[in-house]
Amino acid sequence: MALAFDEYGRPFIILKEQERKSRLRGLDAQKANIAAGRAVARILRTSLGPKGMDKMLQSPDGDVIITNDGATILEQMDVDNQIAKLMVELSRSQDYEIGDGTTGVVVMAGSLLEQAEKLLERGIHPLRVAEGYEVASRIAFDHLEKISQKFEFGPDNIEPLVQTCMTTLSSKIVNRCKRALAEIAVKAVLAVADLERKDVNLDLIKVEGKVGGKLEDTELIYGIVVDKDMSHPQMPKRIEDANIAILTCPFEPPKPKTKHKVDIDTVEKFQTLREQERKYFDDMVQKCKDVGATLVICQWGFDDEANHLLMHRNLPAVRWVGGVELELIAIATGGRIVPRFQELSPEKLGRAGIVREKSFGTTKDRMLYIEQCANSRAVTIFIRGGNKMMIEETKRSLHDALCVARNLIRNNSIVYGGGSAEISCSVAVEAAADRHPGVEQYAIRSFAEALDAIPLALAENSGLPPIDTLTAVKAQQIKENNPFCGIDCNDVGTNDMKEQNVFETLIGKQQQILLATQVVKIILKIDDVISPSEY
Ligand code: ADP
Ligand code: MG
Repeated sequence: MALAFDEYGRPFIILKEQERKSRLRGLDAQKANIAAGRAVARILRTSLGPKGMDKMLQSPDGDVIITNDGATILEQMDVDNQIAKLMVELSRSQDYEIGDGTTGVVVMAGSLLEQAEKLLERGIHPLRVAEGYEVASRIAFDHLEKISQKFEFGPDNIEPLVQTCMTTLSSKIVNRCKRALAEIAVKAVLAVADLERKDVNLDLIKVEGKVGGKLEDTELIYGIVVDKDMSHPQMPKRIEDANIAILTCPFEPPKPKTKHKVDIDTVEKFQTLREQERKYFDDMVQKCKDVGATLVICQWGFDDEANHLLMHRNLPAVRWVGGVELELIAIATGGRIVPRFQELSPEKLGRAGIVREKSFGTTKDRMLYIEQCANSRAVTIFIRGGNKMMIEETKRSLHDALCVARNLIRNNSIVYGGGSAEISCSVAVEAAADRHPGVEQYAIRSFAEALDAIPLALAENSGLPPIDTLTAVKAQQIKENNPFCGIDCNDVGTNDMKEQNVFETLIGKQQQILLATQVVKIILKIDDVISPSEY
């Protein structure tokens, strides 16, 4: 340690540890980074495709997650390495923008890194590799557009949408009932979609789950399901043509906010106080009844005495409903959230055809169904399943399916799956490499080779000999000039993904290629890694 002074005479300390910082430079740095990125990709590789394996992850506090979703696996893995974090980020951005293809994008990036390493070893400058990749990615991007197809659907022809969602779900644990789930996802998206503006607000789709029952019992409810029950067991279980008051203010006599002292020295005084409080609440109940409410949904609770009174005065109520749910209820029933009790008025009430309480199993579990709402543009997908892990995974899989359906409504172009689009791009990029005279052509060729990683992984995961299968399919594509030949993962008997109805959205695939290239370029450009030394 040494003391020094800067130009203004201020002292500062130079630490010796500074010199002991570990530092990687040049090719070593790039190789170390590539190795880290590839390590992450290797983990996800086996999860790709309809026959992909699932991962079981345990969090520090003992929660177990079983999932097949790339973004979730990476999210739960506690990665330390900065480059590995970039890969996590990559998967997350695919999830954020597109929702599906989170595994594929990481596998793709890993394979690009692998090819880059070979080029670096041959002495090609990282920047040239990055430039070549950039050119190649643009060729692949445009080529995808060329082999894409429009597909038509409408509110009365939802089959194509269902098929696409089924492709997404076929690689998940829930693929046993992918048909039912895909239909649910499509109907839900269409219910909230604005087909004119081609926009879908997924926030209006609430996904709720409850342990018990079978996955097949999962249903779509045109309304809201809240994991709450009537505050008193003797309140009616079913209310028809309900007028709902939605309160975010306390539904009880006001509590003194600051410290007050109430001297009660006689029984009479106590009784008047009690009587006053009761009357205050009684007036509140009366006010609700006066404006015509037949059901009160509150964000806050009320005590048992108030509860009893509500039951007595025949005003059903639900307490402790969360803010998000309240908002959805308000949207669905066309009501207004009332933040101050005095503002309650008849036009602020929400309306629903049926509000009913449904109980499950032998337990005391009950849920509240609010259906036939004034505004039907809020729906709930209610998942049933054997255990919590299953329900959580179903939620994640449905999220992918919902995103796919939404993407198709935004842009109805599709490319075929099973690696067929990648193989076709690979052929196109390879051909383009010959037209580039410079050093970049090596990088472009490597890009083409990297694209093969997806079909290779798909074949490997399905127990097929990877190289043999890929060469056969590629040869077939070129011979028949058919960009729809892919890996027949499920052993259906045909390579033609168009016949198999396996497709993915064009924007999803394009996004995968763009994002993967971007991350690889970032990683390649790092040539100095300075990390703090260990103390
Ligand atoms: P991601 O998280 O990237 O979506 P998935 O595990 O969902 O990963 O796998 C997607 C890949 O599996 C895509 O390349 C898709 O084309 C392919 N795939 C899905 N279903 C099939 C199928 N039935 N036959 C062949 N390939 C399929
Ligand atoms: Mg998928």
